[in-house]
Amino acid sequence: MTRVHNFSAGPATMPVEVLQELSDELVEHGTSGQSVIEMSHRSPEYEAIHTETLDLLRSLWAIPDGFEILLLQGGATLQFAMVPMNLAPEGTKAGYINSGVWAAKALEDAHRVADAYQAWGNSGEGLARMPQASEVGVEPGTAYLHVTSNETIGGVRMVDFDGFDVPLVGDMSSDMLGRPINWDRFDLVYGGAQKNLGPSGLTLVVARSDVLDRADQKVPNYLRYSFHSKANSLANTPPTFSVWAVNKVLKWIGSKGGVQAMEQRAIERSNMVYELIDSSNGFYVNPVEPAYRSHMNIVLQPSDPSLTNELITEADDAGLINLKGHRSVGGVRVSIYNGMPNDGVEAVVEFLSSFAQKRG
Ligand SMILES: *Cc1c(COP(=O)(O)O)cnc(C)c1O
Repeated sequence: MTRVHNFSAGPATMPVEVLQELSDELVEHGTSGQSVIEMSHRSPEYEAIHTETLDLLRSLWAIPDGFEILLLQGGATLQFAMVPMNLAPEGTKAGYINSGVWAAKALEDAHRVADAYQAWGNSGEGLARMPQASEVGVEPGTAYLHVTSNETIGGVRMVDFDGFDVPLVGDMSSDMLGRPINWDRFDLVYGGAQKNLGPSGLTLVVARSDVLDRADQKVPNYLRYSFHSKANSLANTPPTFSVWAVNKVLKWIGSKGGVQAMEQRAIERSNMVYELIDSSNGFYVNPVEPAYRSHMNIVLQPSDPSLTNELITEADDAGLINLKGHRSVGGVRVSIYNGMPNDGVEAVVEFLSSFAQKRG
């Protein structure tokens, strides 16, 4: 089999070593006589995987003792509602940095269940960017300020989380375990596993222990963080396959030098693509202010947009798939998450450069 280079924004490329291991071990886990995906989630074998996954997450991402890690389902999308239902009870407000498509969706759901407001908005004029803390209008009574650390569709990244005097909640779907973060700033971070961590089906929530029990009584059990935290994320059947696969990806991240190494690698690899864009004499353009360019999702467009479809078709034929930008913005998007091998990055840079030479 020839593996393609898959630049999908999620579900996304996983390390082939991990896929191979999953395949080798799928039919029988150890000497248990059964597959991980058949066994009871109450069995000692599964519990060992579950606990080890939590331990790996804590050590790799340097999650401090005062935080709990929850392994949930429903994707980042369910967190758009769970976060305000749990963290912004009646009498408080929730502020949102509206930095792009994902932030807007988070704010839309927050409006349904809490007293939410936009604390800063991307005007849509000029190059896309994130705000400075001083530009964000935090209202009195705000329980948390929601940030999207990496806008997966717009290709815009928050550089740091400093300068805010309210606790932050971060949607880190597309850069969790791709960068170290300063946990002091956060009450909670969340994201779906299917970008940087493995297959879909698992949602990671890391929350400060003392915010877990803030939801009022009318919030149903499954939607309460405290319900899951009291049961060590085993209140109901967890997504056992995804937890097992993420466990293996975490070990792989550790073997490559951990989160710091992932970040360094992401900087170098995204720079290869940005350098190509910037040295293309205007053949390619990127719509983001350089300081805020994503390390994970690089958006670009031939300045002659009629070339976009051709580019994507030629790339497909060359085994470079899923380079089409999100349907809401068009253009080209190169998603380079932790699991993408260096070969893939080199191949896409070479392809884009030769396409520009041929058509430029
Ligand atoms: C992918 C993504 C989501 C949606 O994630 P699901 O797990 O599909 O619900 C939300 N926010 C960001 C920033 C994303 O990249």
